[in-house]
Amino acid sequence: MLTRLLGLNSEELRQRLQEEGEPAYRGDQIAEWIYRHQAHTFAEMTNLGQTLRAQLENKYQVGRSRVINVQHGQDGTAKLLLEMCDGALVETVGLPYPEHFTCCLSTQVGCPIGCVFCATGLSGYTRNLEPGEIVDQALTVQEEMRSSNSPGNNDIRRLDHVTFMGMGEPLLNYEATIKALHLLNEELGMGMRNITVSTVGLVTGIRKLAQEKLQVTLAVSLHAPNDNLRRKLIPRMGQWSVAEIIKACRDYIRDTGRRVTFEYCLLGGVNDGTAEAHQLAVLLRGLKCHVNLIPYNPVPGLAFKAPSSRQIQVFREILSSAGIQVTQRFQRGQGIDAACGQLRQRAMKKAPVEQY
Ligand code: SF4
Repeated sequence: MLTRLLGLNSEELRQRLQEEGEPAYRGDQIAEWIYRHQAHTFAEMTNLGQTLRAQLENKYQVGRSRVINVQHGQDGTAKLLLEMCDGALVETVGLPYPEHFTCCLSTQVGCPIGCVFCATGLSGYTRNLEPGEIVDQALTVQEEMRSSNSPGNNDIRRLDHVTFMGMGEPLLNYEATIKALHLLNEELGMGMRNITVSTVGLVTGIRKLAQEKLQVTLAVSLHAPNDNLRRKLIPRMGQWSVAEIIKACRDYIRDTGRRVTFEYCLLGGVNDGTAEAHQLAVLLRGLKCHVNLIPYNPVPGLAFKAPSSRQIQVFREILSSAGIQVTQRFQRGQGIDAACGQLRQRAMKKAPVEQY
């Protein structure tokens, strides 16, 4: 297979072009085409000579994915199913808000964590994504949202926020995640503070990330305030207790000065009771944090249901009265396969991809 250039930074592209006997500035030109102009082919790079373009085509590819399905929600949300160069299917989502434009990126093909309520977990795990494949999702979402006529998309600005919250556990694909966020920052010009890295609570990964001293936001998907419940919901993460996760977050806040966000998916009748809310309030007392409540989006084939509006409100009030900053993530993408992994799962059922 031809070598992918998407995923190399400007410095690496300069070196690569020098190895090809070209002046270093050609690497900068290619970086500009790939990351700023979102070129898919060398033919688009009109300030490179034809001979150089032909030479590059023999050995390299830009390495962009192919969009194989797009679903648009009434609110402007776009969910894309992308096919990577080896046929792997990956989901990504574009979320336009009045004040910013966010993209939710996947870091793995499927997910090995297997949270029992998640559609991605249902379809298993294939491989890690490479840095270029992660950044490709941001470039593709931006292109799609700009070119689409879906409601609310007429005035799409440049993508300015990214969350690593799609398929997969970013901290299990640590090196690629770190490289991708440097590419987003240095090549796409996105502020580190506008990047959120989500984890289901890998203590070793949280501690490693803290040492990078980056200004990214850490979001920890807790989903349960005690070990018993957490082990039922996320059975493969039983090696770290809730207390150990909170301790790692406390140290992260100390080392980076950044507030941590706790994601809590409210599953009707499972983890949304007043007892769990009080436990969570005690657990997070005094921590520089913010809780994001996510009402569950039911997934066909899974027995979990959405929480009632009343229970969401009660849960929220208990946290607020304990002095914890809490927000509720409003469901976006109504009318599309909004839960992470559903679009891919549907496509795999229809037309299984050979390499799986
Ligand atoms: S919720 Fe996240 S960590 Fe859990 S299985 Fe789904 S993608 Fe993986």
